[in-house]
Amino acid sequence: MSTPDPGLLSLNTATVRKQWSLAQAIAGCARHCIRGISPWRHQLHEMGIEAAVHAIKGHDLTVTGLCRGGLFPAADAAGRYAAIEENLRAINEAHALRAQCLVLVAGGLPKGSKDVAGAREQVREGIAAILPHARNAGVPLAIEPLHPMYAADRACINTLAQALDLCDALDPHNEGGLGVALDVYHVWWDPQLASQIKRAGKTRLLAFHICDWLVPTRDLLNDRGMMGDGVIDLPRIRSWMEQAGYTGLHEVEIFSKLDWWQRDADEVLEACKERHQQFC
Ligand code: ZN
Repeated sequence: MSTPDPGLLSLNTATVRKQWSLAQAIAGCARHCIRGISPWRHQLHEMGIEAAVHAIKGHDLTVTGLCRGGLFPAADAAGRYAAIEENLRAINEAHALRAQCLVLVAGGLPKGSKDVAGAREQVREGIAAILPHARNAGVPLAIEPLHPMYAADRACINTLAQALDLCDALDPHNEGGLGVALDVYHVWWDPQLASQIKRAGKTRLLAFHICDWLVPTRDLLNDRGMMGDGVIDLPRIRSWMEQAGYTGLHEVEIFSKLDWWQRDADEVLEACKERHQQFC
């Protein structure tokens, strides 16, 4: 594999969210010549959408995604309705940012429920409900399958195959506007990964999130590794993505309570750039 184009690096702002506000992250990307950014909604609200749009445009950054929508399952109809309303607002924000996609984290089981199949059905219904608005707004919806360890509390869509089945059910003619966000942290272990990336193809591959899987992993949510520090064969996965037609950016997304969140954020961005060149 050849070294990746450094211009393809994007920063998911969660990587430095303990150190920096969104405004600081936008300025940091510009300073470090990182051309892409993917903000989280709570930070976007803190900064103000207009100010964020202005700053991102001012630095000519590509918004590789807005994190995040989804979280559809709820114990009752009112809860499901509220989730859909929240997703419609998220679509509007993604539109304002000209984001390349709105990342959807499906949601887990409603409190007290043991019905994972029912939760998955609620996810399907939720995405079906928001897809027309997303298409009107020109905001592709990117379903991000999460590692099965999060099935109960975060996302009951756990493999790329499952996410693509959902895409096929909701968009049988592949009209666009619906696809997947592939995050290596969640799917690196999947024996079907290569074949499912190929199946997804260019139109369904909407985002590529990179980090590494540490051994041992000390915290199931907030101990992601920097590229090169773990066991994920990033060049191989990138090659599968490229063979499938993906030409988008490589978004670094690292939740790291024990390490990277404790470092100076400029140092973190430098490490992202170096490791992207060395290990991706
Ligand atoms: Zn991700």
